Amino acid sequence: MRCPVCEKGTLKKGNIEETMFGVYLGKFPAEICNKCNESFTDQKTTGAIQEAAKKKGIWNLGKKTKITKTGNSLAVRIPKEIANFLKLEEGNEAYIHPDKGKLIVESI
Ligand SMILES: [Zn+2]
Repeated sequence: MRCPVCEKGTLKKGNIEETMFGVYLGKFPAEICNKCNESFTDQKTTGAIQEAAKKKGIWNLGKKTKITKTGNSLAVRIPKEIANFLKLEEGNEAYIHPDKGKLIVESI
């Protein structure tokens, strides 16, 4: 089958190592493009990846949040689920910096 992404490569059966938010989920069967390396999973495998993410407690950890104003600065609300997952607590120190248009907050 032709790759729907690059339209040049052919899809071959193989395995992909899936990670979500930097957490390793396991190896899963997929069709992989021999040109652009894009991978495609069927519905069953997509469900299995979702189950693995739920077991690790990281399913739906990516969330929308609001940027609010506090004094002259802006504040980003960290949803409870993410705070719990990263064991963040009020008063913790963090290192904040941009990275390719993203905002990185590292707890230190
Ligand atoms: Zn491709």
